[in-house]
Amino acid sequence: MPRLIIISNRLPITIDKKEGELMYHPSAGGLATGLSSLDESIEKLWIGWPGKAIEDDWEQAAIKNDLQKEGLIPIFLNQEDIECFYEGFSNKVIWPHFHYFTQYTTYNNTSYWEAYKKVNQLFEKAVAENYQEGDIIWVQDYQLMLLPAMIRKTFPKASIGFFLHIPFPSYEIFRVLPWRKQLLDGVLGADQIGFHTYNYMRHFLSAAYRISGIEHNFGKMVVKGRMVNVDVFPMGIDYWKYAKHAVTLDPRDEAFKIERMARKKTIVLSIDRLDYTKGIPQRIKAFENFLETYPEYIEKVTLLLVVVPSRSNVDQYQELKAEVDSLVGRINGLYGSYDWSPIQYFYRSLPFKVLSTLYKVSQIAMITPLRDGMNLVAKEYIASKEESEQGVLILSEMAGAANELTEALIVNPHDSDDIVETLKKAIEMNSSEQRWRLKKMQDGLKKYNVKNWAENFIKNLMDLTQEQKNSEVHLLNKETAEDIINAYKNTSQRLIILDYDGTLMGFQNDPQAVVPDEELLGILEELCADSQNKVVINTGRDKETIGKWLGHLPLEFAAEHGVWTKKGKKWVKNPGLRNGWKPDVESVLESMVERTPGSFIEHKDYSLAWHYRRIDKELGAKRIREFRDVLAYLTSNLDLQVLEGNKVIEIKNAGVSKGQATLGWSNAKEWDFIFAIGDDHTDEDTFKALPETAFTVKVGDAKSAARYNIGTVEHVRSLLKLFLEK
Ligand code: UDP
Repeated sequence: MPRLIIISNRLPITIDKKEGELMYHPSAGGLATGLSSLDESIEKLWIGWPGKAIEDDWEQAAIKNDLQKEGLIPIFLNQEDIECFYEGFSNKVIWPHFHYFTQYTTYNNTSYWEAYKKVNQLFEKAVAENYQEGDIIWVQDYQLMLLPAMIRKTFPKASIGFFLHIPFPSYEIFRVLPWRKQLLDGVLGADQIGFHTYNYMRHFLSAAYRISGIEHNFGKMVVKGRMVNVDVFPMGIDYWKYAKHAVTLDPRDEAFKIERMARKKTIVLSIDRLDYTKGIPQRIKAFENFLETYPEYIEKVTLLLVVVPSRSNVDQYQELKAEVDSLVGRINGLYGSYDWSPIQYFYRSLPFKVLSTLYKVSQIAMITPLRDGMNLVAKEYIASKEESEQGVLILSEMAGAANELTEALIVNPHDSDDIVETLKKAIEMNSSEQRWRLKKMQDGLKKYNVKNWAENFIKNLMDLTQEQKNSEVHLLNKETAEDIINAYKNTSQRLIILDYDGTLMGFQNDPQAVVPDEELLGILEELCADSQNKVVINTGRDKETIGKWLGHLPLEFAAEHGVWTKKGKKWVKNPGLRNGWKPDVESVLESMVERTPGSFIEHKDYSLAWHYRRIDKELGAKRIREFRDVLAYLTSNLDLQVLEGNKVIEIKNAGVSKGQATLGWSNAKEWDFIFAIGDDHTDEDTFKALPETAFTVKVGDAKSAARYNIGTVEHVRSLLKLFLEK
């Protein structure tokens, strides 16, 4: 079993100092629970901040030593790091922005950004000191978005996962961030990237495409030659911790008093950290609206409002606290009586026993965040109803959990009237409806608990690492290149097939710029000068252009993907080609151009191509689908093929390809050396047409039928020059 290195902003402990002595308390967050329940045979190492600014060297050393025994590696942050990295970039930039609170995003604080980079680098250093080959690294959350790429730079072969616990916003929001590209590239350093919901995943994929041009296929993408998997892993809870039977309560317990109150009133429970994303004021106002609309429930229904203090150094949180205090005061003053307050308000963190009792005794939970990555409280509430089988969950559609808890009463947290009506429905819901709704949700939560969540993520990452190994492209290296060169030097009947664009010449936006340069002309001339070589240019370009550029050399040619060949002085057309289909297809393509500004038609002798380089990929894909529908109707009795290339489709007669043209040469005689090189999917036909003994090389790092991959046009030229060395 490989070792697992978990990296999160916070270690799963808090440090206390009492009378000069250090005390450590475990904090059982969801992540710690999930990971602790993992297979014992996995050795774990956890890197993170212990939650306190500790600047004394001696104290740091003592803590390091104490924690090391538990497999914990502390990262020490100073006061400035805490202000700029944690409270600053993490909680005043990424947190509000990713939760769609752009009005709270700080855009112009460079020291926040600098601290974010610096602290991510500190974490990288700790990983570098502890990493051993074969370890699995799992980076957690929005505070460490640069870390995957930093680790990748130091350990290119490491197996790295990244999980985002908050929403990933729509591209239209994400693009606003000045650091969007750095954050995206940072995350893309991971092999597996996980989100709570499909929507977050889809937004991320869209940002990767729009910002970095990286396309995906069902969540799989190739980033700098590495396969990356983006997927959904909804985080679960430790189900039985909440579902198990209630403990006997001592009359002196706070929980005991709450339980007694619940016997007399209908309790509507609300629990969140103090955070503007949670919609607390909106919820309180909706409750007031409810009392106003349905006064018959006054003195019968109580809102039990638990607000857990959080990030009290950030301005917006202090303002929010004042707003909640004032709303509660006003409503209690307005509707309260001597023995009843409409809102029971607790501003503190509750011990598990009290929290669990609240879940168990509340008839209704009203959880209406304006935006929430997942919301575990909603899941814990449902689990706590395992025994009683009674309870109704009102849940915001903006919480990630709403995707799984579909039998909850789902509301729009901004729609006060909707909440009022839903609350009434919840109060009046009969027992059997409560039971079946709970049962369905409980079944799901039991299955996808936090242990499964962690196991699934790690298993998928391990499978991916294996898949990456299996599909590793065979980059031409020193030894394999030498094999080819030796074979070249020891043979005398050589066939050399070269693609032009993207292989001999780099791609340029300006078509004039791909005119062959002196260096290329020199290489080709020398290759042709050896009478033991037959050198063929196999291109998609039209014969006039390629003829004008290279026709003066003793090369042979296939142009327009095999439509034309030139083995002597004259161009010969592939027999059986017809052009009668062109006007009909052309009119369809013209209507596509009219509706799709930025696209254009290229006319070739025996084919038509529609280019859409400058338009949106999805719009291009939609047009191609429409086009295929029309084409099927138009050409049901015509022998046409549609080739989809890189932002281009080409329509031409079937049975004509670079591969077919290749056969014309490879079958012509007994060659003792065949070499073919090309960069795009049309060259795959060439590779497939050749015998296995041929040396076939793909330019770029994509998977290919070729035996080898080579980096760039410059590498191709260097290789050809090595053929020519005496
Ligand atoms: N919680 C707690 N003490 C409290 C109230 C809540 O430990 O007094 C826990 C609760 O059980 C849940 C977590 O805090 O597991 C809150 O997670 P959630 O996803 O609902 O919201 P977040 O605070 O992560 O935004």
